[in-house]
Amino acid sequence: MQANLPYALRNKRVWVAGHRGLVGAALVRRLAAEQCEVLTVGRTECDLRRAVAVEAWMDANRPQAVFVAAARVGGIYANDSRPADFLYDNLMIAANVIEAARRTGVEKLLFLGSTCIYPRLAKQPMNENALLTGPLEPTNQWYALAKIAGIKLVQAYRRQHGCDFISAMPTNLYGPGDNFDLRSSHVLPALIAKTHDAVACGAKTVEVWGSGRPLREFLHVDDCADALVHLMKTYSSEDIVNVGSGQEISIADLAALVCRVAGFRGALVFDPSKPDGTPRKLVDVARLTALGWRPRIALEDGIAQTYRWYAEHRLSARKRHLEAV
Ligand code: GDP
Repeated sequence: MQANLPYALRNKRVWVAGHRGLVGAALVRRLAAEQCEVLTVGRTECDLRRAVAVEAWMDANRPQAVFVAAARVGGIYANDSRPADFLYDNLMIAANVIEAARRTGVEKLLFLGSTCIYPRLAKQPMNENALLTGPLEPTNQWYALAKIAGIKLVQAYRRQHGCDFISAMPTNLYGPGDNFDLRSSHVLPALIAKTHDAVACGAKTVEVWGSGRPLREFLHVDDCADALVHLMKTYSSEDIVNVGSGQEISIADLAALVCRVAGFRGALVFDPSKPDGTPRKLVDVARLTALGWRPRIALEDGIAQTYRWYAEHRLSARKRHLEAV
């Protein structure tokens, strides 16, 4: 298909599906600078797992551009214990929104995947071509399979229907509005919450799971939203695009950074009874870099901003989990 690039968002009706989630909320913030009309809809009004509801809402609201940032997400425990929810909900959200977008003539759609779509033992840094070249990580295979189906729908709709739909794969994201619930959160919000609590109650130690040796990549969610808007405007291809910072840090160094930001002077205690997970998880960002995009928020600055946000919102923040991306 031939697309007119750049795709202009100005004066367009832009639907952010999943606006209450980490990425969706960041997209709404970022789109304020685009002079477009941002559309959102709550779950009670339109359950994205129901095709009839999605079609009716899109018929009535006629978005011209769509960011599919809605998903059922959760950490390793939630994924592993509720496989049917993770597979069914994410399959339905992808299929319903993509099909309704075709039916209602959406001009451009960006589908959000995740780097867990890549094989468990993919070569590092993980290139987009690694998709479907090996077995998935078993604990999150349900989520990953649904996201892979979404990517394939996007590709199939481009080929068969000429729809200008694209897919992006964000790395580990963090920022305001993240899930800080210690049982289901990822490492960075967990370290922020634990260190904040240690400072608040004068504790001498902060516990860090595992050996501290695994390497992870982090991207601030506002940088991610900026990259997604950039892709929406400048990219049109069936090839997926990784969205990351291209930089990795060990969990031990990350914990030390959080302590510095928090002004915590106690000790880090590593708990080897907790799993390390995969030793390294870094995406290859060459494709995104070639499109002229770079992250702007340094990790320490992003952690400081997120720490301040958590300090102000921690009572409500800890209750959020298991919902949109
Ligand atoms: P992963 O990237 O899919 O492995 O997920 P996580 O973000 O949950 O974990 C990343 C790494 O951080 C793993 O090696 C964890 O053991 C380590 N880690 C250290 N402390 C914590 C913690 O308090 N919570 C979580 N979730 N991970 C932690």
